[in-house]
Amino acid sequence: MPPKVDTKKCNGCAGRTEPQCVRICPGDLMAVGEDGKAYCRSLRDCWDCMSCTKDCPTKAIETRIPYQLGYHGAKLVPFMGKGTITWICTDIYGNEERFKYRIRNNAD
Ligand code: SF4
Ligand code: SF4
Repeated sequence: MPPKVDTKKCNGCAGRTEPQCVRICPGDLMAVGEDGKAYCRSLRDCWDCMSCTKDCPTKAIETRIPYQLGYHGAKLVPFMGKGTITWICTDIYGNEERFKYRIRNNAD
């Protein structure tokens, strides 16, 4: 499922020339609108690599889980740590499960 941007959390990367989600998307799909908020320009072209989701510094992007797996409202949000990534999976009832894994980079 394409990324969903929480416009309350997105700050347009504080006016950076090239916001993180725009920079990282391998398909050049992310853009920032006149309102200063990010959006996906072509939802059908997104292949769910989740790079934008992982790289957003304000955690404004979440991935909706396809209905075949989680139904409407289920979502998956990653939190990058030093040497780890934690995936927070929320089901349709709001229950959360966390999955923490080691990663090779040292991003905060
Ligand atoms: S990386 Fe996050 S905060 Fe920056 S423009 Fe994209 S959605 Fe907004
Ligand atoms: S999930 Fe991947 S392909 Fe889709 S918009 Fe984000 S970075 Fe681009």
